[in-house]
Amino acid sequence: MVDRIQIGLGVQGMTCDGCAAHVEQALGGVEGVEEATVPGWRAARATVVARADVTDAALLESVQASGYRAQVRERRPVRAGQRFVSGGETYDIMIVGGGSAAFAAAIKAAELGAKVGMIEAGTLGGTCVNVGCVPSKTLIKAAELCYRSAYPKFEGLTACPPPSDWQRVVRQKDELVASLRQGKYVDVMKIYQGISLITGRARLAGPRSVTVDGTTYRPGKILIATGSVPWAPPIPGLAEAGFLDSTEALSRASLPQSLVVIGAGAIGLELGQLFGRFGVRVMILESGPHVAGGEEPEIGQALTRYLADEKIRVCTGVRIERVERDRSGYTVHAVIDGQPEECRAEQLIVATGRRANTANLGLAEAGVDVGSRGEIRVDTNLRTSNPDVYAAGDCIGDPMYVYVAAYGGNLAAENALTDAGRVYDLTALPHVIFTNPQVASVGLSERAAKAAGRSVRTAVLSLKDVPRALAARDTRGLFKLVAEADTGRLLGAHVLADGAGEVIQAATLAVKFGLRAQDLVETFHPYLTMAEGLKLAALTFDRDVARLSCCAT
Ligand SMILES: Cc1cc2nc3c(=O)[nH]c(=O)nc-3n(C[C@H](O)[C@H](O)[C@H](O)COP(=O)(O)OP(=O)(O)OC[C@H]3O[C@@H](n4cnc5c(N)ncnc54)[C@H](O)[C@@H]3O)c2cc1C
Repeated sequence: MVDRIQIGLGVQGMTCDGCAAHVEQALGGVEGVEEATVPGWRAARATVVARADVTDAALLESVQASGYRAQVRERRPVRAGQRFVSGGETYDIMIVGGGSAAFAAAIKAAELGAKVGMIEAGTLGGTCVNVGCVPSKTLIKAAELCYRSAYPKFEGLTACPPPSDWQRVVRQKDELVASLRQGKYVDVMKIYQGISLITGRARLAGPRSVTVDGTTYRPGKILIATGSVPWAPPIPGLAEAGFLDSTEALSRASLPQSLVVIGAGAIGLELGQLFGRFGVRVMILESGPHVAGGEEPEIGQALTRYLADEKIRVCTGVRIERVERDRSGYTVHAVIDGQPEECRAEQLIVATGRRANTANLGLAEAGVDVGSRGEIRVDTNLRTSNPDVYAAGDCIGDPMYVYVAAYGGNLAAENALTDAGRVYDLTALPHVIFTNPQVASVGLSERAAKAAGRSVRTAVLSLKDVPRALAARDTRGLFKLVAEADTGRLLGAHVLADGAGEVIQAATLAVKFGLRAQDLVETFHPYLTMAEGLKLAALTFDRDVARLSCCAT
């Protein structure tokens, strides 16, 4: 039976810490309220734990009487025994890491009224803002603009943009990173008075203790959000030769003449095309049968052709035997199409994936189990093998995306501090590779669906049949839909197209909510948008769209 509720309120009109104290006092004075928390005036919100019979009106009137305005944003039951679990000497929860998972966790914990200690050893904000999503995507956009203006018809690279272009965009990238780090991390942290930043490297020192630079803390709960680090395969000579990882590649002061990229996953493809578009001679080596290995083969094969059109040499099914380096650059000894080949370049990027950053964290001492790739093992509530320790973000392994890290951080913090028992659910998770054209997918591939014993139908539509692509004079790409054979339910959507990352969102809703391909057909799609390709692809299951009039269904 629910005898208590937690109520979240938005509060306007607070301009200083004194205001926050007034609102807290006003709410705390309402009969039946057990606890009222305002995590600083900038947060513009309050949290109340109260008897279930306390009304919204009583709370709102109390705020109004103290000179402010409020609205109730959520009411949720507090089950017996549920309160955030304290017991820590200084902090209710300590979060190891200061990236996206950590921030989402810290904000959630502060909103629950907890005292939070966030420990960061490097740069606040972590991978995404500093060395990942933000810098890579802004440089990719700059490369695209530079390439389009130099080669409007995509005729291939015949001359190099001036090197000063690169220096300028790197400078602008650094400015953007600095401003987003400040605005989205440093300033956001100040809003939440319940969060304290501790600078230093953390280590678990037992089941419920954390040490940072010689100081030991005993928080109520611990959340590990230490992210991931680039991983390189054990290729003979590679470690001795040295190489660039994505972080180093994105911050180079100058461009090399030529580049070999090992690995054609998202990061390898994005970096390869980025540098190619700045005039670098690029070769991409991939051991798998096609690039973008997790995607549909049709998409990988088409992307390879488009990269080749930009004079990027892409080799698949490659075996790399060893790497050497001398004063003039690198030699990658590889077997390509069964023939030995020496691939020479001034620079070498290794983009063969990332692994959980969990070494030297004291996990064994804390009784936290890890898997074969160092990833922290968690249950469906993101709890580790130690019941007082939770983990979220890249450190629990694939899939490694920032929106997954943020979702996990929020969920893990709530589960750690209350008995909410939220379940980590990555059903219908979309993802994007930011090449041009982009790759975006959601749900099952044809192969994965068949491997799972599903009987499926597929439909593939070339962009030559999508009016938007014809009008934009860029018909590079395709749509592929995977549907359950008997019901027509959409199981997966895979798009290679300019703007595929936006298009996939509609397909994500369709997959998540169990819609049929026919539902896409019966839904309006604005003419001359790329999203219309989804509807046309769905039509392709039963009709030849080449025989239809432009917007006729
Ligand atoms: C080049 C590149 C491009 C990417 N592009 C995208 C994209 O477009 N979209 C997308 O969704 N994802 C992208 N990602 C992935 C995304 O950046 C990550 O999934 C996300 O940032 C992971 O967040 P996290 O909080 O788990 O880890 P991180 O953000 O890495 O945070 C971990 C933090 O923990 C700190 N730390 C580690 N150990 C300790 C310790 N012992 N004590 C104290 N602090 C410690 C680290 O310094 C770090 O700041 C990209 C990644 C890269 C590398």
